[in-house]
Amino acid sequence: MVTKVMAAANSQPVAKCVGPIILLGAPGAGKGTQAKQIAEVYGIPQISTGDILRANVANGSELGKQAKAIMDRGDLVPDQLVCDMVAQRLLQPDAARGFILDGFPRTVTQARWLDEFLGGKLFENQGCAKLPPIVIEIAVGYNQLLRRLTGRRTCPTCGRIYNVNFQPPRVPDACDIDGAKLGTRKDDSEDVISERLKAYERQTLPLTEYYGSQGRLRALDGDRDPAIVAKEVIAAIEHGHTV
Ligand code: AMP
Repeated sequence: MVTKVMAAANSQPVAKCVGPIILLGAPGAGKGTQAKQIAEVYGIPQISTGDILRANVANGSELGKQAKAIMDRGDLVPDQLVCDMVAQRLLQPDAARGFILDGFPRTVTQARWLDEFLGGKLFENQGCAKLPPIVIEIAVGYNQLLRRLTGRRTCPTCGRIYNVNFQPPRVPDACDIDGAKLGTRKDDSEDVISERLKAYERQTLPLTEYYGSQGRLRALDGDRDPAIVAKEVIAAIEHGHTV
């Protein structure tokens, strides 16, 4: 089953109902990298609340103005603002067969809201029967997270993520795909990283208990080669639909 799906990654995405995929994990755990792989395999969108918020900051929207200072210091944006933003995004037609939530939910309040939203009439998941979320936790140790976050570089054009310590680009500071100059996220500075990891422990880690107690959580060791983790993530998704 898994081989069949991975083989499809090299040709056409698998056009089937996938439902909601939730990726949990600390900043730097590799959620973005894994989300991109899943998106490619199944042809469903990666919905990164961090990316949407950064786009709002960049274009100076009202939401961006409210979120900027909070993001700059590494705190979480208020639940209501983020939930409204996610609701709008999930109702877009490209999310009908499924979607990958990367960076959401991040608090128990957001997780409860999401359960209610997905169960409600508002979210009809056009064309696909409602599927329960598959929740995958990518677990990585603290020191490794620090190394990953401080070395992270992102292509501003295509979004590809590099790491100067583990996965450097072929030419320093340039994207392998389109040659754009790689950037460092403002909140990947050491003092802000430490705040983000504190926010994770305080507000997001309790989600493993929330989903674990419902028997929905699959935890994977994210401290390995991203390609190996990706195979297990796909296997977890396939398995999630057969149990
Ligand atoms: P990320 O790119 O996921 O690391 O998110 C960057 C920043 O955006 C976080 O440090 C938060 O300030 C904000 N953010 C992203 N997702 C959420 C969320 N689900 N709830 C609250 N704040 C969020």
